[in-house]
Amino acid sequence: MKYISTRGQAPALNFEDVVLTGLAPDGGLYVPTHLPEFSVEKLQALRSASYQELAVEVMMPFVGDSIDRETFTEMVHDTYAAFNHDAIAPLKQLEADVWLLELFHGPTLAFKDFALQLLGRLFDYFLAKRQQKVVIMGATSGDTGSAAIDGCKRSAWVDMFILHPHGRVSEVQRRQMTSILEPNVFNIAVEGNFDDCQRMVKASFADQSFLKGRQLVAVNSINWARIMAQIVYYFYAALRLGAPSRSVAFSVPTGNFGDIFAGYLAKQMGLPITQLVVATNRNDILHRFLASNRYEQAPLEHTLSPSMDIVVSSNFERLLFDLHHRDGQALADLMKRMSTETVSIEDVAWQKARALFDSAAVSDEETTRVIGERWKRSNELLDPHTAIGYKAAIDCRRDPAVPMVVLGTAHPAKFAEAVRKSGAASDPVLPPFLADLMDREERFEVLPNDLKAVQSSMVSALKL
Ligand SMILES: *Cc1c(COP(=O)(O)O)cnc(C)c1O
Repeated sequence: MKYISTRGQAPALNFEDVVLTGLAPDGGLYVPTHLPEFSVEKLQALRSASYQELAVEVMMPFVGDSIDRETFTEMVHDTYAAFNHDAIAPLKQLEADVWLLELFHGPTLAFKDFALQLLGRLFDYFLAKRQQKVVIMGATSGDTGSAAIDGCKRSAWVDMFILHPHGRVSEVQRRQMTSILEPNVFNIAVEGNFDDCQRMVKASFADQSFLKGRQLVAVNSINWARIMAQIVYYFYAALRLGAPSRSVAFSVPTGNFGDIFAGYLAKQMGLPITQLVVATNRNDILHRFLASNRYEQAPLEHTLSPSMDIVVSSNFERLLFDLHHRDGQALADLMKRMSTETVSIEDVAWQKARALFDSAAVSDEETTRVIGERWKRSNELLDPHTAIGYKAAIDCRRDPAVPMVVLGTAHPAKFAEAVRKSGAASDPVLPPFLADLMDREERFEVLPNDLKAVQSSMVSALKL
């Protein structure tokens, strides 16, 4: 399998190289040249596969000859052994034909573990083979940082610097990052906001000379391997609910458009998905685009679902590439315009997007109301992101005969404040393996909002 850039000007890469890069040199994102197809017969044959078996079948065509099948199978089994539920991604029935896909049984209690636990193992495998040390640098408003740290902390080939806005992530989220004391993990609390952190990461990727030859690799969802790993659970849920004989719908809490893009790919690969719902909070650029064909940046809003607080959705570029017949030049022009002005796309392309996705934006007030109601009705505690997915599912549902699956993206104990605000009767409790989180030793460095300060701290930590 080869990977090409959405902006058409970068050389094609194999899976190994694509895992070890960030953006393409032309500023685009990597996508596979084609998708593997899963026929009805093939889907039928996978109906009783375990999560791990299915993961190997779904991902192996993307891995290609970068890893042999036996090694990759071992890697997948090792990855999901880190999860705390035997089903890995259990489906729970909420009401008649509305289901919750619980994606929060990984070590850091959010769906990002599905991809980042695998990504850490992929890094380790390729880097050990190459005898190459790399540096991970990432910015986080919470979930990405802890999932990346947990996924990559074992690797002798990786040093990891995760920037978070000082005092602006929840205590649970901070402690999940800062209580990992492995010597290759460096948490930096920046005296600024998330955008400041992100800007410093982008600037460092653009000019890596301060690292004296060490290469930076990306752990955010521009990394193709993250999208790939997320395709698997769409297959898993749909097969459990009767695919390929039966169609399925999904509602996906969305920020950077990574998770739902994986659902779109699953559909293109042959999974009978009849509806994909984009569920956003008040940072609703995607919802507004789907409703009005205006892609217009709005100022960042801080919400009760912080992992979806974004101004632009980076993975949306991957969809736009398909909507424009994979014309890299057209996309390069479009993305350039989108970064500076409000843009509409050609009507046929926009209509295609509307046929693929429904959407809803959910306010904080609605979010807490839904959490409270869901608790009263069946003692089910939803985290605020999942609650947005649930609300959008109910509002956008087209066919009540098709099972609707809401992606449960985080454990409610990660976002206790929103749950408390909802008036739900109980405080969410951390699972036993994190019960002592609030007493664990923490390690992090507080730095000013200044690129030079951050980079020189990295250089001295790395003893370069
Ligand atoms: C990251 C995250 C999301 C958004 O996922 P995207 O892939 O960025 O769309 C939703 N919910 C939770 C809990 C998250 O951590």
